[in-house]
Amino acid sequence: TQFKDLGLAEPLIKALAAKGYDNPTPIQVQAIPALLDGRDLCGIAQTGTGKTAAFALPSLDYFAEHPKPRPIRGCRMLVLSPTRELAAQIAQSFRDYGRFLQLEVQTVFGGVPAGKQIRALEKGCDVLVATPGRLLDLIDQRALTLRHVEIFVLDEADQMMDLGFIHALKRIDTLLPKDRQSLFFSATMPADIAKLAERFLDDPVHVSV
Ligand code: AMP
Repeated sequence: TQFKDLGLAEPLIKALAAKGYDNPTPIQVQAIPALLDGRDLCGIAQTGTGKTAAFALPSLDYFAEHPKPRPIRGCRMLVLSPTRELAAQIAQSFRDYGRFLQLEVQTVFGGVPAGKQIRALEKGCDVLVATPGRLLDLIDQRALTLRHVEIFVLDEADQMMDLGFIHALKRIDTLLPKDRQSLFFSATMPADIAKLAERFLDDPVHVSV
């Protein structure tokens, strides 16, 4: 399988060629067609499998096909990451794969002053990559709303649980629109994490690599 057989838009094929990626990884082969169809997805996958591109590419394809103004103090896509390092990496992947699309990608995470993040959100963004605690802080400060989210990704769910984010995740779930596409990734899927996945997902496709 090649990327162009998966049905991705031309600007994404060009960005992948610029990165020197010819062939999709197994999780990309499994996930991309289902996500392009608008399905929810539950993935058991470790870092290093290409899972970031597996969720970034079909989402970017959706934005290429469905352009809309950026929501002020909001976003069209929310990606939750357990750590700021991973959040920065995910944001960079979206910028790389989306280099031929005019998309705004922002990050919010704790450990740094919130002022710059609040100002960046004022102009609105397409893709927001966030850690759960700072995200809720900014929502409570009215700097951000999740009302416009069309695509939601929860990455590294097992790490989220280990870091004690369960209550934050449940609260974020209540703030998201019901009508959205949801993706859930974890390296392992014990019962408590499978239960959390159920809360977020609607009739998901399951992939495991
Ligand atoms: P991830 O699992 O998302 O952390 O990705 C692991 C690494 O593989 C990252 O450095 C990606 O840029 C790279 N990568 C993702 N997809 C591909 C691909 N189809 N071909 C080659 N490298 C890839």
